[in-house]
Amino acid sequence: MNKLRCSSCKEEITNQRGTVKFKCPKCGKTEIIRCPHCKKIAAKYKCSACGFEGPN
Ligand SMILES: [Zn+2]
Ligand SMILES: [Zn+2]
Repeated sequence: MNKLRCSSCKEEITNQRGTVKFKCPKCGKTEIIRCPHCKKIAAKYKCSACGFEGPN
């Protein structure tokens, strides 16, 4: 079983409450995972497949 890591801070997701998972809005190839902390501070994430940077 793969451990989930936040796409922004690379922290392991240990408690999935408040964690969001979604496909890259641009290419849909990778799954972006954001921990509650990064969601709260609107930390950037980057898609490893297409280089898309969010949250916008
Ligand atoms: Zn995080
Ligand atoms: Zn992408």
